[in-house]
Amino acid sequence: MTMITNHMPTAELQALDAAHHMHPFTHGNQLETKGARIITRAQGVTLTDSEGNEILDAMGGLWCVNIGYGRDELAEVAARQMRELPFYNTFFQTSHVPAIALAAKLAELAPGDLNHVFYAGSGSEANDTNIRMVRTYWAQMGQPERNIIISRRNAYHGSSVGSGSLGGMSGMHAQGGMPIPDIHHIDQPHWYAEGGDMDPEAFGLARARQLEEKIEELGPHRVAAFIGEPVQGAGGVIIPPDSYWPEIQRICDKYGILLIADEVICGFGRTGEWFGSQTLNIRPDIMTVAKGLSSGYAPIGGSIVSDRVAEVMNDCEFNHGYTYSGHPVSCAVALENLRILEEEKIVERVAQETAPYLREKWESLFAHPLVGETRIIGMMGSLALTPHKASRAKFAADPGTAGYICRERCFANNLVMRHVGDRMIISPPLVISKSEIDTLIERAWQSLDQAEKQIRDEGLMKAAA
Ligand SMILES: *Cc1c(COP(=O)(O)O)cnc(C)c1O
Repeated sequence: MTMITNHMPTAELQALDAAHHMHPFTHGNQLETKGARIITRAQGVTLTDSEGNEILDAMGGLWCVNIGYGRDELAEVAARQMRELPFYNTFFQTSHVPAIALAAKLAELAPGDLNHVFYAGSGSEANDTNIRMVRTYWAQMGQPERNIIISRRNAYHGSSVGSGSLGGMSGMHAQGGMPIPDIHHIDQPHWYAEGGDMDPEAFGLARARQLEEKIEELGPHRVAAFIGEPVQGAGGVIIPPDSYWPEIQRICDKYGILLIADEVICGFGRTGEWFGSQTLNIRPDIMTVAKGLSSGYAPIGGSIVSDRVAEVMNDCEFNHGYTYSGHPVSCAVALENLRILEEEKIVERVAQETAPYLREKWESLFAHPLVGETRIIGMMGSLALTPHKASRAKFAADPGTAGYICRERCFANNLVMRHVGDRMIISPPLVISKSEIDTLIERAWQSLDQAEKQIRDEGLMKAAA
């Protein structure tokens, strides 16, 4: 067996990495100078790096390691499945047991009449499926001109050409010819940054009503679907005002357009229920899932589709699919992950014990002079850094300057907390304990202190005009 524990020195690994490995969302030359942090092992909520440091992973990998690291059961299931049937496809009228069993389980767990699963290898692929599925649905319904999908600015739906177009990240759209045609974006329900003097609930309603305005502007007969993350993740853990989703739902219902809930982060317990749609009272026609579906132990994603949509789609051959749609090893691993989440009552424990505890501690960070707001739902939270708390001021420096300083302080203090611009975000494994939450908060506070000092020392504690 290849065990990469007795590895070469960190500097050599970093040099090879910089020479041969092109990283996602990374400036290559900067990384070459600095060297990547190399993670070698993990257990529970703790990562070990190539220097032997133990780091609390408050991001759950990349929002995905819901059951925590080091669960042997998943390794056993993967090995067993590889021996029994490492691969078979699900194209052309064939199937296999893991794909069937997982689809039935997802139909049971998903709310309402979301009873049908189209598999993908990732969240991006699943959202590409959704683009083609909703357009094909309307074509099948005799309305092929209904092909516009409306999304939000600063949404994240993946990194392929299709899903990146659905997303509303301007930095992504600037590279490689995105968005593709017939994707339109409305503003996000981000009160702290964009709400001005408005009351948050009035702001939430106003942002939701942009959907109605956009539908009227484009023509209701042209709009196929709306897509949104119940809580925006990569955009900065932006929890919409309570008024937002009910109004979005009302508008989708009024115009009969399909609602896609991108549950790639919110799904599988992140918000304190199995799906974010349950926590936020959304009735989607399609849910995108990935990440927590397998707790990141194997790549898998999918679209969970309503009876209404599946019935229409089943009347045609959908010329779409991925070699790894319903990969048997990934399906077996996902099923075992769901068994653990269910049998160990991990979602219930989050809702009743650890999320309320984390909320109280996270909100206590608002007392820090650098913090302009704290937001949290279930096991995902964010805080805004500000040079001036009372006015919710942004920094005069380039967006992300202060956030990056804070992130670097966190990493130095053995805490993985990410920054999105000048917002700090967390999404820890759902199994994090109360004492581990205490450690997270202590390290966050210490990092905020050090970041504040550095920001002042560098003369950056200035508000934008
Ligand atoms: C991560 C993410 C995706 C993309 O999933 P990948 O597996 O990285 O392709 C899509 N939607 C949301 C909400 C995500 O957070």
